[in-house]
Amino acid sequence: MKKGKHMKHLTKEEFIKIEREKARRLKDTRWWRRRLEKGICYYCGRKVPREELTMDHKIPLALGGTSSRENIVPSCKECNTKKKTLPPWEWEEYLAKLKGKKGEEGFEGGNSES
Ligand SMILES: [Zn+2]
Repeated sequence: MKKGKHMKHLTKEEFIKIEREKARRLKDTRWWRRRLEKGICYYCGRKVPREELTMDHKIPLALGGTSSRENIVPSCKECNTKKKTLPPWEWEEYLAKLKGKKGEEGFEGGNSES
């Protein structure tokens, strides 16, 4: 029943619907559960409770991204919201800031991890 061919005449809406469906199915895989168990936000690198991680498409479906494992990452709510609401250049800035911060974040105190 399943057709292996890509339908080239999909509208954008249809494409997004199909990819969303794929993403939903991915949520049920061990691959995704393992990522949730790690509980690390792909963007800011923070450890967040599993229920606060959302599934995010690095390249949004609206921009032609797909629900492939390469394009799907766990994201905390904060990053997810920012990614959705900020214009791309501000989002890039935010990411750049996060990256710069990671190296020098030594002020949390009592850091037992060497
Ligand atoms: Zn985050």
